[in-house]
Amino acid sequence: MISILRIGHRIRRDKRITTHVCLVARMFGADEILIDTKDDRIEENIRSVCKRFGGPFHVQTGINALQYVKKWKGTIVHLTMYGEKLNTAIKEIDKTKDLLVIVGAEKVPFEYYELADINVSVGNQPHSEVAALAVFLDRHTNGSWQEKIFNGKIIINPSRKGKDVQTLEDELDDSL
Ligand code: SAM
Repeated sequence: MISILRIGHRIRRDKRITTHVCLVARMFGADEILIDTKDDRIEENIRSVCKRFGGPFHVQTGINALQYVKKWKGTIVHLTMYGEKLNTAIKEIDKTKDLLVIVGAEKVPFEYYELADINVSVGNQPHSEVAALAVFLDRHTNGSWQEKIFNGKIIINPSRKGKDVQTLEDELDDSL
């Protein structure tokens, strides 16, 4: 089980980037995303993506993040440019345990640095939570996200030219 916790989400300012964090989490092998601030629009958007492109993937907003972290039973990773080198950290994370990955938006309170089992950097330079999460999950899953089957109503087949899209029309109509 891989769970992503997005903290410091500001509804107006972060709506696009938090949506991208959700989409990256879903694509790169996480089972769920939890967001501290209640945001119905993001929940609707991501559930709509799952309905069309498949799942399973759970999204929930309005989470008490600190309580959630304190109760987490598995490993806790916090992605931050101040953390341990990815190459070193990745070898130490026990893949048999549930994993909670924390990503910030605005400044992350220091408490989370202490609650994490390991603070992990994807390079010690500031960049983006979207990039940090994608690179981290790719490394953590050894690229196995590429084989994930989504069972969606819209299936995109790899194509060297143009777009090859299959739509299971009946099922799409039934769900509307
Ligand atoms: N200034 C904020 C702070 O000091 O916590 C961080 C803002 S940054 C745009 C948002 C999030 O991106 C961070 O909380 C972190 O999760 C992630 N991030 C940015 N650069 C990173 C890096 N080099 N390695 C890992 N995560 C990074």
